[in-house]
Amino acid sequence: MTKAFIFLGPPGCGKGTQTELLAKELKLPHIDTGSLLRKNIKEGTNIGLIAKGFIDKGQLVPLNVVSTVIKNRLKEADCSFGYILDGFPRSLEQALSLDNILDELNGNIKKEDIEAIYFDIPNEVLVERLVNRRSCPKCGKIYNLLTNAPKNEGKCDDCNVDLIQRKDDTKETAMLRFETYEKETKPLLEFYTNRGNLKKINADQSINAVWNDLLKTIKIKETV
Ligand code: AMP
Repeated sequence: MTKAFIFLGPPGCGKGTQTELLAKELKLPHIDTGSLLRKNIKEGTNIGLIAKGFIDKGQLVPLNVVSTVIKNRLKEADCSFGYILDGFPRSLEQALSLDNILDELNGNIKKEDIEAIYFDIPNEVLVERLVNRRSCPKCGKIYNLLTNAPKNEGKCDDCNVDLIQRKDDTKETAMLRFETYEKETKPLLEFYTNRGNLKKINADQSINAVWNDLLKTIKIKETV
């Protein structure tokens, strides 16, 4: 199977959790631009220095920066037979840039192999999800204090290290991120619908129910 999955949906819709699961199930790399950018910030790279100001304001990092990050990642050998993109593309110009990158790389994955999955969820539940989100700085596992709490308060179930809250998971920055999503990312739904490769999932359900729907939607059992 040669496949590139992209996941679309507002901040807090649960795509991070599901893309992690799917990556393990399909044994494909999970490429999350938000995490890649945060890693650059932590390491103090030039990319990180540019990205920080935009992330803190809930805005999209400029196209040339994210496209460079993605292109470099997609060139790596583990991406030859597929990958799961989480958080990219996030605007029409990024979707077109992804097409160009795939043309340029001229590898196994072509733009026709892209399958877009949209996580549909009402806005009302999202702020609550975001402000209660915590993650493990070591393994990246995502928790929610209300719906998916760690077994020991404040500690990762797997690594036992202290969980962290992302700086942009405050109510104020979350509102700015929703605005950015509405303006920049939502038009992608029409873009991929017109190409005939957008599938929709009801993301306002438990993690298990969304996972089951995801497996059915991408007919994973027949394709793996
Ligand atoms: P996320 O972890 O996906 O919620 O992303 C956190 C932040 O990283 C976003 O609010 C943006 O500032 C930035 N970011 C992540 N992915 C992208 C992208 N594809 N394009 C531009 N900025 C991005």
